[in-house]
Amino acid sequence: MGKKTTHKFKAEVSQLLDILVHSLYTNKEIFLRELISNASDALEKVRFLTTAQGGQDDTPLEIRIEADKDAKTVTVTDTGVGMTRDELMKNIGTIAHSGTAELTKMATEGKESLDTLIGRFGVGFYSVYMVADEVEVTTRSIEPGAKPMVWTSDGKTDYKLQELEEDGVARGTRIVVRLKDDLAGQFANAAHLKSIIKKHSNFINFPIHVDGERV
Ligand code: ADP
Ligand code: MG
Repeated sequence: MGKKTTHKFKAEVSQLLDILVHSLYTNKEIFLRELISNASDALEKVRFLTTAQGGQDDTPLEIRIEADKDAKTVTVTDTGVGMTRDELMKNIGTIAHSGTAELTKMATEGKESLDTLIGRFGVGFYSVYMVADEVEVTTRSIEPGAKPMVWTSDGKTDYKLQELEEDGVARGTRIVVRLKDDLAGQFANAAHLKSIIKKHSNFINFPIHVDGERV
């Protein structure tokens, strides 16, 4: 294993996370829609790249979701493009879009729902911290020779990065959501996850499996 390094979130990320964690917004289930949407985007990119290269790859393009009641986790795995170390730092350590101050202001005022704001400002990933105590992202980029990386954070002030030496890690991204204690019963539940998927992710163009069963 490579050395574990600690990185501070940019101030605007910390601010946003603070709002999400403390919000009284009750529609927390949208975190799953956001993770699935990111997985789908990553799969879309693989489809585009492999089509451009004549379609060499035989890894199925799909999303797999697992609920573990005992561990209090929900895990979302995709076989998409994955992220390099640099991409991890850029994509889920900063907010690329301008207008973060405006987002913070609007979220604090509470005139628009967080759901609307998350969509408008393109900060979907962070919505996972409405339900999570900790999130672990294991990812290997489609880039030739890319090392698998692990990103972990409790969504407070910093995140940790570590390179894995293993060669066997498949291309794509696995996100382990460690649920807050009071939400584990609700979300570490395959039947409930399926109903959320049917409600919010009905038009995803890739197969979605929950605990091995196609939704
Ligand atoms: P948006 O999807 O609007 O760009 P998000 O906050 O949802 O904003 O995600 C931020 C970025 O993190 C994405 O643009 C993408 O580059 C990266 N990302 C998130 N999830 C994944 C994933 N499963 N696979 C690859 N990249 C991802
Ligand atoms: Mg997104």
